[in-house]
Amino acid sequence: MSDVLTARILPNIVGGQRVISKSFRSMPVTNPSTGEVIAELPMSTAAELDAAVKVAGVAQAEWAEVPLKDRVQVFYKMKALVEAEKDYLAEIVTLENGKTHAESLGSVLRAVECLEFGASLPQIATGEILEVSKGVECRTMRAPLGVTGIITPFNFPFMVPLWMIPMSIGLGNAVILKPSEQTPLSALEIGRLLEASGLPAGIFSVVNGDREIVDAMCDHPGISAIGFVGSTHVARKVYERGSAAGKRVRALGGAKNHLVVVPDADPEMTAANVVSSVTGCAGQRCMAASVLLAVGDCDHILDLVKLKMEELVVGKDVGAIISEAAYERITGYLERTASGGAMLTLDGRKASLAEAPSGGRYLGASIIDHATPDHEASCDEIFGPTLTIIRCATLDEALAIENANPYGNAAAIYTSSGGTAQYFADKVSAGMVGVNIGVPVPREPFAFGGWNDSAFGGGDITGPTAIDFWSRTKKVTTKWSASNKANWMS
Ligand code: NAD
Repeated sequence: MSDVLTARILPNIVGGQRVISKSFRSMPVTNPSTGEVIAELPMSTAAELDAAVKVAGVAQAEWAEVPLKDRVQVFYKMKALVEAEKDYLAEIVTLENGKTHAESLGSVLRAVECLEFGASLPQIATGEILEVSKGVECRTMRAPLGVTGIITPFNFPFMVPLWMIPMSIGLGNAVILKPSEQTPLSALEIGRLLEASGLPAGIFSVVNGDREIVDAMCDHPGISAIGFVGSTHVARKVYERGSAAGKRVRALGGAKNHLVVVPDADPEMTAANVVSSVTGCAGQRCMAASVLLAVGDCDHILDLVKLKMEELVVGKDVGAIISEAAYERITGYLERTASGGAMLTLDGRKASLAEAPSGGRYLGASIIDHATPDHEASCDEIFGPTLTIIRCATLDEALAIENANPYGNAAAIYTSSGGTAQYFADKVSAGMVGVNIGVPVPREPFAFGGWNDSAFGGGDITGPTAIDFWSRTKKVTTKWSASNKANWMS
């Protein structure tokens, strides 16, 4: 397969070559499931980014000349390769991220959908044509932007980069990917797979590093657009800094997703779905359920939620927490629960770790119940397998709490009433709405993206509207008929 498992020092990819950064700074990459150090990751310098941008710029000028139909052939080939290697690729995701194998595999297969979508660009990225006056025709052409930057978080190291890579590269751009320094292995695998699928050298580069490279990407005049996915405070900063440097930036941020449960919800389906929404990927996903707004008497459902959470086997059903810092952050909320006036009715710190590998950072599911809307656990993105429950008298009260929170990534309702579901969908202030589905994830061909503090900038970085984000249009007005004396106003 590849050398990511044996490399002691992880390289960048520049011009199709594996290049070891000469930086004096580096970070260990650890396996969250065991705490073992997998490799050392140099933190590349701004000068190394600059060199990569120059190489990418030269390659992109040639790539832009390749017809769209020929460019996307890469994604057909890559889809076949990813499908053939799906278990291996899932193992890499698990190795660097700590997800369970099933979760990693799901994320790899979801990335396949993104490749399929990229392959469909010739069908959906056609231009427009209209005779605007007698004998005068306008048509739009699509042109690439140039060298683009993609900056990604730790939680989906294979899938999230592939939300954007097929769109940007398919539309004729070159991509410089800066993956999370906590999970850099999958990025190198993506590079290997793109090369094996026939992508010319220089169109896809990986420049590893931390905030220094992110800042340098925002400032670099040779990078024309940035797609960012990560936490809200960094998304806002990348949006502001990149925009100030004249770039097109779409930055997806963090979340505080609310699930509303009303008494007519199907208890079994609701409880199973809530539990998987809270604990999937150990709660480390932007779509994870975080707050449950229980409207009226829902105790029969909440009891089932607790029971199902207690039955989870940590290490088998619930994967690892990414880092010691993340573990400390999550457990801090559990420690401080009572001081905010709420009750810790299920404490994930007490879950059995008998099935979990030793040396890793693991937590069972937790429930913080009877919280007030201003409790810190009701407001902050905890990003762990923790559910905060707020009791509400009415659906409107629940909606008011949801809509007052600054985020707006996802929200869901559990009900057996179509009218209630539609009322919720109409009133809720979130970009992705679920009905009896706690993780209404982005699925091609639907565009997605959060609202409010969950996303900054215009356009979209995946889905059909991403075509406009990753390209620019040119309008060509043509008149061939010399006999037509009319000017453009007539
Ligand atoms: P993060 O914001 O810490 O890191 C994301 C990227 O930004 C990384 O590549 C990192 O190197 C870089 N970065 C970190 N701090 C920086 C700084 N101060 N200046 C410049 N760059 C910096 O996010 P994370 O912890 O890796 O991922 C978890 C977060 O991502 C959560 O908030 C989650 O909700 C969010 N997320 C959002 C979506 C979405 O679609 N909205 C999807 C996945 C994850």
